[in-house]
Amino acid sequence: MLCPVCESAMIVVEYHNVELDFCHSCRGVWFDSGELDLLLESHGLGEAKTFLDGILAAQESASPEKKRKCPLCGHKMKKTAIGEQPEILIDMCRDEHGLWFDGGEVTQLMRHLADKRQSQHGAGEQVISFMEEVFEAPEQTGDN
Ligand SMILES: [Zn+2]
Ligand SMILES: [Zn+2]
Repeated sequence: MLCPVCESAMIVVEYHNVELDFCHSCRGVWFDSGELDLLLESHGLGEAKTFLDGILAAQESASPEKKRKCPLCGHKMKKTAIGEQPEILIDMCRDEHGLWFDGGEVTQLMRHLADKRQSQHGAGEQVISFMEEVFEAPEQTGDN
């Protein structure tokens, strides 16, 4: 699958039976429909379904950011903003193929969801550190 932003080939990352596609060049992440729900649910961030339904139903956000195309069907995706400071702009295929996060946004989303569940201390921490390690690790140079 090609990255909707920079068109590099993405690599498949598997984590707790959830597969996601990661672009090494721009550090964006693509989740097929359902994979993000799975990931969130298995890490105590369980209202994922409601949350994702909310995104799907939400109005498109006005944004100067360029529209991305769904890597599966090639149609322009809908942008939805969630959270505040920082606001996270998620791109979602209108045909529910999946969701795209620009570099770093997926970790912001996890933090946002974890914050909302302070009563369950520690919810999401494991997945947040995973995201940070995998998606925000400094670029490795000179090793090929
Ligand atoms: Zn890319
Ligand atoms: Zn699509």
